[in-house]
Amino acid sequence: LAAGEYGPEQPGRVTAHFGRTLDVRPEAGGQAVRCHLRANLEGLVTGDRVIWRGRQDPAGHTVEGVVVARGERDSVLERPDARGQLKPVAANIDQILIVFAVEPAPHANLIDRYLVAAEATGIAPVLVLNKIDLLPETGGELRDLLARYEALGYPVVSTTTEREDGLSALHARLAGRTSVFVGQSGVGKSSLIDRLLPDEELRIGALSKDSRKGTHTTTTARLYALPAAAGGELIDSPGIREFGLVHLDEQQVAEGFIEFRDHLGRCRFRDCRHRHEPGCALLEAVERGEIDPERFASYRRIVDSLAQG
Ligand code: GDP
Ligand code: ZN
Repeated sequence: LAAGEYGPEQPGRVTAHFGRTLDVRPEAGGQAVRCHLRANLEGLVTGDRVIWRGRQDPAGHTVEGVVVARGERDSVLERPDARGQLKPVAANIDQILIVFAVEPAPHANLIDRYLVAAEATGIAPVLVLNKIDLLPETGGELRDLLARYEALGYPVVSTTTEREDGLSALHARLAGRTSVFVGQSGVGKSSLIDRLLPDEELRIGALSKDSRKGTHTTTTARLYALPAAAGGELIDSPGIREFGLVHLDEQQVAEGFIEFRDHLGRCRFRDCRHRHEPGCALLEAVERGEIDPERFASYRRIVDSLAQG
């Protein structure tokens, strides 16, 4: 293959995107390569799997590439743009890590809001309780709260950035998966990510040489490979961290409460709003103790807040 010509097609994954320019990491390993898009392709985002071709310089280094096809997406995370339209921001995410902390202590309703938003994307949520070093001996209330979510089937992982082994359970959870961290400000997302990606090289390794020159200091989502011992990958951006309830309707909120799903569709009225309707399957399930009344109250609060928004 002569220098200057594009090589064979190969698989890769988008590690950052800047309009019609992308950074693509070869599936075979190695640094990300700055690529442009073939004309008929559009809307690629960080995390997309692609087919691309690299061009080498006379010294045999891949200097630049072209993306020729996009792979199937397992999942896509969307955010509203400036005009309120939902736009994909990252793809092929396996799990959404919802971070909360011993301090500031979480409200159940806040956790439910994140869970509902995650359920609406179809991406599996995981609850991460950070700052367990601050958990008092008598942290019974918080443990009860978490037990409630574990009983619903949600994985709960406890972490602290204050102890050497404080992230071991998290490492196990991240291995072999692509994850994003979401959660309120102050819960420790930056601290956790700093600990997971301690090496500056790991961070910039997600970027091609061109991107590192600083011509694109945008807030695009980045895909990072975690150190081999832990494995797994992380997609991160300020916008993703602020992930929350957007554009959901009442039906989607109800379906976001996973223990409601068996009951939905069994109400007497098809358009039941689960308030005072006779023959409401949800209200009856609460009555029978099959649905936690606090989760039901939380559902109502979220629906009421939709109406106001
Ligand atoms: P973010 O806003 O979610 O990114 O949160 P930060 O990572 O900025 O953390 C907020 C504050 O919590 C900082 O002062 C951190 O030092 C502190 N913090 C983070 N993780 C822990 C932890 O495990 N234990 C304790 N005690 N403090 C933590
Ligand atoms: Zn109903």
